[in-house]
Amino acid sequence: MSTIIETTAADLAEYGLYIGGKAVPSVSGRTYESLDPFTRQPWARVADGSAEDVDQAVAAARAALSGPWGAMTPPERGALLRRLAELIIRDADTLAEIEVRDGGKLLREMSGQMRSLATWYTYFAGVAETAHGEVIPTGKSNFLVYTRHEPVGVVAAITPWNSPLLLLTWKLAPALAAGCTVVVKPSDYTPASTVALAELVVEAGFPPGVVNVVTGWGPETGKALAAHPGVDKVAFTGSTETGRSVAHAAAENLARVTLELGGKSAQVVFEDADLDAAASGVIAGIFAATGQTCLAGSRLLVHASVADELVAKIVDRTERIVIGDPRAPETEMGPLANDRQYAKVLEHFTAAKEQGAVIACGGEAVADLGGYFVKPTVLRDLPRDARAVTEEIFGPVLTVNTFTDEDDAVSQANDTPFGLAGSVWTKDVQRAHRVAARLHTGTVWVNAYRVVAPQVPFGGVGASGIGRESGADAIRDYTETKSVWVELTGASRDPFTLG
Ligand code: NAD
Repeated sequence: MSTIIETTAADLAEYGLYIGGKAVPSVSGRTYESLDPFTRQPWARVADGSAEDVDQAVAAARAALSGPWGAMTPPERGALLRRLAELIIRDADTLAEIEVRDGGKLLREMSGQMRSLATWYTYFAGVAETAHGEVIPTGKSNFLVYTRHEPVGVVAAITPWNSPLLLLTWKLAPALAAGCTVVVKPSDYTPASTVALAELVVEAGFPPGVVNVVTGWGPETGKALAAHPGVDKVAFTGSTETGRSVAHAAAENLARVTLELGGKSAQVVFEDADLDAAASGVIAGIFAATGQTCLAGSRLLVHASVADELVAKIVDRTERIVIGDPRAPETEMGPLANDRQYAKVLEHFTAAKEQGAVIACGGEAVADLGGYFVKPTVLRDLPRDARAVTEEIFGPVLTVNTFTDEDDAVSQANDTPFGLAGSVWTKDVQRAHRVAARLHTGTVWVNAYRVVAPQVPFGGVGASGIGRESGADAIRDYTETKSVWVELTGASRDPFTLG
C-alpha cells in the first residue's frame, strides 16, 4: 500500500489527503501527529485539512458525478464493489495493523473485522443490481407511471474513532451502490486506515474523485464539510452532541442527514435465564473493544432474585480478563483509544464513588502498562439517576440495577433518551418477544449481544440517531425517487384542472 507517502526522519508513517484519485498534501501544508494509544507515542504524521481542502474534495466529488462514474450501470458499479471487496481481503492484515496503531483495538478482533468489511461491499453490489424502480398502476389508464431511483449526489461521510473502517463502510457501500460520490472526514484520532482504503478504491477501478478523504480536526474540517453547500447528504456517526450540530449545519443547505449517535443500552436478564450465557453476553457487550462501542450494553438490569449470582459470575470472569498489548494474541482488552477518552473514564470513576457506587471490580487505571489502560469495572447500587447509569461513558464500565417484574424491567430499560440497542435474556419465548417489542430501541438481541450483519438494519431512535445503516433499504438513503408520467394516447387535456 503506498498511501504512506514517505517515512520521515522520525520514522513516522505519513498520510496525505486523498482527493481526485491521489494522495495530496493539505493546501496549508499543515500536518499533525497521530498517537499510538498503547505506547502514547506518535506513529504517523497526517495532513491537517482546512476548509479550502474540503472545497477541493467536494469539487472533485461533484466532477466525478458527471464523468464516467455517472454513466456507469448498476451492474458495472456492482462489479467495482466486488473488486474492492477482494482488495480489502488481500490487504486485511495491513488495514488491521493500521487500525490497531491508530486506535488501540485488538489485532485479533480487527483482523476479522477487516475481512468482514468485504461482505458489506459484496452485499451492496447485489443491492445495486437488484434495487429498481416500479411501474405504478394508477386510476389513470392513459398513463404509464414508473419510478427511478437516482443518486442523491455528493455525500459527506463523517466518522468516529472506535471502528473507523467498519462505520465508514456502512455508509460507503450503499452510497457507491447508489451511484453517489463521497467525501470522507475520518476521526482526527484514527484517520490513517481511511486514507489507505481510498487508495484501494482507486486500485479497484473506481474513477478518480468518486471517493475523497479530507483528514483534520472536527471543529474545523468536519464543520466545513457538514456545512458545505456542495454536499447533498451528510451521513454522520459520532456523539449525540456533535450529531446535533452536524444536523443544524446540514439543515442550512437542506441537505439530507442520517445520524448514528450514542447509546446507553440495557441488557435485561430475567430470573429464568441461562446465567452462564448471560454473564458471557454481558461481558461481550461492555468489555469487548474496551467498551468503546456505540452499542455497548452498559446497563445491566437483572431480576433481584438472581442478581448476586449473576454479578459473581461476571466479576469472576472480568477479573481474569487479560489486559495488555493489543497486538498480542492472548490480550482480551486493550487500552482506551485516546487521552480524552482516558480522562473521561477516570472522571466517571471518581463521580461514581462520590455517588455511592459499590465497586464490584475495577474502578481505577492500570498504572504499570504505559498506555491509556483502565480496569474493566462493575458498579453496583448506584441510584437510577447517577451519572454512570444515565450518561454514555464509552468505556469498560458496567452499572448493575435490579428489577422486580417485567414492567419494572421495561420501564428502567426505556428510562433513557438513548435508544440504540438492548438485549433480553430469558428461556421464556413468549416473554422474549413481548419484551423485545416493548424496548424502545433500533436493535434487540434475544439471548445474545453484539452481532451485526450487512443484511440487517442498524441504527437508533431518540438521542441515538435518525435512519438505519445496513440492510437493503439503506440504499434508499442515498437515492432520490423520481416519478415519471408517460401519456399514452396523445389526447389533449383541460389545462385548468388537476389531472
Ligand atoms: P465525535 O462526535 O467527537 O466525532 C465524530 C466525528 O465528527 C469525528 O470525525 C470528528 O472529527 C467530527 N466532528 C467533531 N466536531 C464536529 C463538528 N462540529 N462538525 C462536524 N464534524 C465534527 O465522536 P467520537 O468521539 O469520535 O466517537 C464516539 C461517539 O460516537 C460516541 O458517542 C459513540 O456512541 C458514537 N458512535 C455511534 C455509533 C452508531 O452507529 N450509533 C457507532 C460508533 C460510535
